[in-house]
Amino acid sequence: MTLFDEIVSLTKRRGFIFQNSDIYGGLANGWDWGPLGVLLKNNIKQLWWREFVTKREDVVGLDSSIILHPQVWEASGHTKEFSDPLIECRTCHKRFRADDIEGFIGDEGTWNEDVVKTFQCPSCGTKGNMTSPASFNLMFKTFLGASEESANEAFLRPETAQGIFIHFKNIVDTLAPKLPFGIAQIGKAFRNEITPGNFIFRTREFEQMEIEYFIRPEEWEMHFNHWEEELKRWIELVGIDMGKVHFVEVPETERAHYSKKTIDVEFDFPFGRKELYGLAYRGDFDLSNHEKGSKKSLGYYDEASKETFLPHVIEPSLGVERTILALLFSAYKKDVDEKGEERVYLDLPPAVAPYRVAVFPLLSNKPELIEKAKEVYVMLQNKNIPAIFDKGGNIGKRYRRQDEIGTPLCVTIDFESLEDSAVTVRERNTMKQERIAIQDLDSYIRTTTQ
Ligand code: ATP
Repeated sequence: MTLFDEIVSLTKRRGFIFQNSDIYGGLANGWDWGPLGVLLKNNIKQLWWREFVTKREDVVGLDSSIILHPQVWEASGHTKEFSDPLIECRTCHKRFRADDIEGFIGDEGTWNEDVVKTFQCPSCGTKGNMTSPASFNLMFKTFLGASEESANEAFLRPETAQGIFIHFKNIVDTLAPKLPFGIAQIGKAFRNEITPGNFIFRTREFEQMEIEYFIRPEEWEMHFNHWEEELKRWIELVGIDMGKVHFVEVPETERAHYSKKTIDVEFDFPFGRKELYGLAYRGDFDLSNHEKGSKKSLGYYDEASKETFLPHVIEPSLGVERTILALLFSAYKKDVDEKGEERVYLDLPPAVAPYRVAVFPLLSNKPELIEKAKEVYVMLQNKNIPAIFDKGGNIGKRYRRQDEIGTPLCVTIDFESLEDSAVTVRERNTMKQERIAIQDLDSYIRTTTQ
């Protein structure tokens, strides 16, 4: 089995990720989050929110709708940008407008698909591995109300960012934030990808964590550097292997015309080096387009300079699923267990691991041990330490299970515990065991799993 297959299999076996609509044969390239996966995913989103919203005085949160006014997508350029005939390289997943290729559009305006069949990808150089051209909008279309008329057409958002821009004025009017300030949002985004795949890397439904950080135009470089450092800090904090991460500046020729600087944060996945996150300086492109589109002034009055202007924006854009995929490839480790047998463990930071601690009775058929273990488990739960109670199989099996789901500590209640009110605590990575008094257990867990 390849590393990729081993990880996919672990995520299914342990209840992290299931195929969408599994019992109906599965919906291709769709994935759902099982009981363990939802804990991991929520922990990651909470950690991001805590670091970039709660802990910062200069960032506020927002939760906008998935379906916005269709004019939002007109103004943002999404309606137009995504409705050209597109082809996508099956090797590197770069997309190209087919009508840019010489000879593709014939004299009568018809498509000449043969041109595409032999087309060499300008990005990775692969020849003849393009998808057929499709004039489709990457946005999922739907209809509001009962009748499917074009007047009722609406779209599922392809990114969370535009929901932020359209509430810029509301936030300035209600909270009067001073520049620089950011608006953050976590939520679902939908893209009718031509070639989804590589497990949860590219899906049609995914989650984004985005910040639009509004700044004075002349200060853009300073803030860009700040957010680059913040992204590095985040990558370390969440447990992604920095040795596999590359910050690549996008050359001017490939950048969006409005961006003075864009960085693709890439990760060495087993299927190649691919985009993990994006960091872009977007100028005032979005606010000025929404000002034109809505005919509402979105100018910001700056008390310091006594001027009204459109702030510029720095956008760190992170995918939740790609974070998890990079994290799984970073945290998946193998070594030898207490009995000399090969074991797999997930070296997850405690802050994102589904559980911080597992609590076991040494034997699963001794009511007095089960009762004491339940007592300890409830005590930890009441102290807000995410814990799991496990009495299935023997102790070796339980260690193996907890290692595979990344639980940092395992606590065992044995016969001695009934006498001395102490327990054995085993650490996931080192497998070292220590005897800890039950009354000190929560502070011990807190200090060792910060
Ligand atoms: P790609 O080139 O891989 O399609 P993109 O440049 O279109 O990505 P952005 O529009 O910059 O992506 O979106 C920001 C982030 O959202 C990406 O860096 C990624 O983490 C995530 N993302 C985008 N598309 C998908 C998808 N189809 N599935 C999962 N995550 C995605």
